[in-house]
Amino acid sequence: GADVLILGAGQAGVQLAAALREGGHDGRILLLGEEPELPYQRPPLSKAYLSGKADAPQLRLRTDAFYAENRIGLRLGARAVRIERAARRVRLASGEALAYGHLVLATGARNRALPVPGAALDGVMQLRTLAEAEALRRRLGTARRAVVVGAGFIGLEFAAVAAARGLEVTVVEALDRPMARSVSPLVAAHLRAAHERAGVRFAFGAAVTRIAGEAGRVAAVETADGRRFPADLVLIGIGVVPNAGLAAEAGLAVADGIVVDALLRTGDPAISAIGDCARFPCRFAAGAPVRLESVQNAADQARCLAARLLGRAAPYAALPWFWSDQGALRLQIAGLSVPHDRAVLRGDPAGGQGFSVFCFRGGRLAGVESVNRPLEHVLARRILERGLDLTPEQAADPAFDLKAHAG
Ligand code: FAD
Repeated sequence: GADVLILGAGQAGVQLAAALREGGHDGRILLLGEEPELPYQRPPLSKAYLSGKADAPQLRLRTDAFYAENRIGLRLGARAVRIERAARRVRLASGEALAYGHLVLATGARNRALPVPGAALDGVMQLRTLAEAEALRRRLGTARRAVVVGAGFIGLEFAAVAAARGLEVTVVEALDRPMARSVSPLVAAHLRAAHERAGVRFAFGAAVTRIAGEAGRVAAVETADGRRFPADLVLIGIGVVPNAGLAAEAGLAVADGIVVDALLRTGDPAISAIGDCARFPCRFAAGAPVRLESVQNAADQARCLAARLLGRAAPYAALPWFWSDQGALRLQIAGLSVPHDRAVLRGDPAGGQGFSVFCFRGGRLAGVESVNRPLEHVLARRILERGLDLTPEQAADPAFDLKAHAG
């Protein structure tokens, strides 16, 4: 048993355990994780790790010694299968029960499956875990033609790495542009052009209906409009599904994520949820509660929850921000830029010096998408965090001193 039992030893769970100890929590902390490896960072899986620039030990969130030194119990390769709220304990797949004082659901998300025939063929892969990244990296060594299903963050990061390694890469996407749910049409067009210059081909408006195989191995991806894209490697990158099953079965509210309030509490005062699995009210969102998938969100929610468990409760109010590396492009997003009703450009996308798109919603700055403009991203974060006024005209004016404005 533990005073604080954390389900999920990912970005959020590990940060919570560390923040509790840093903040002086003296009780027992137990981190439970299904994956066998020491907890690691996922972002490099589709970047430095995939391209061979980093290896698994460099991805670790903390060293092995950190857990022992901080008296953080770590149970890896252990899956929780049931929450027994009345008895305040969690049942593991092994049958063992763990008692808790406070239970934290930091269970993350899993890949959304592509529901078409052939999705289980050899050579059809996904990318969420280190094990999957390892398998994918190995395949990259021999594959010649890759088809990526889904032009989201992970699909495009993978496409950039695969193209740089000399593979023929086609990205098949149901919508009409890349990253339609995450960035403005302007940035989407720029990303598309950059990938095309690197040799990546796109098929938009294409719904995958079947993955064809030969002798159990993937051979091609087929779309509803009758096209056929030959492949010896297929990466499915069509988003994730939050791991909320345990919460739902325990009678907690779930709506594409475990529903929590501004203090990150579920309906049971002894159970909280943080990170990719949680849906929470966000003051930077258009209205309805959101579920975000980012390191920032996982880490900041962990810190917020740690503070509450240490007796310093405050509503979660951190500014969301994201990044993605795609070939030579570093995309950074401050705030929630989608949806927006007006977008203005700062800088020249053709000029090679990077640019930003400032996105406004209801007359207020909602988010800023920067491509190779790290300083502007930092300033944008400051402006959004402080809720400073900024007009579209100011944002678009290269003579307007953004740095002085951000203070
Ligand atoms: P996770 O990191 O998913 O951890 C949850 C853990 O809980 C998992 O290890 C899971 O096995 C475990 N678990 C689930 N259910 C159970 C159970 N019943 N019992 C025991 N254990 C369980 N974000 C960015 O901000 N920038 C990026 O550039 C970026 N790149 C990414 C690239 C890739 C390839 C991926 C996959 C993600 C990327 N992300 C990026 C997203 C980021 O990694 C996630 O938002 C972050 O990991 C969320 O942390 P989490 O702790 O909520 O969930």
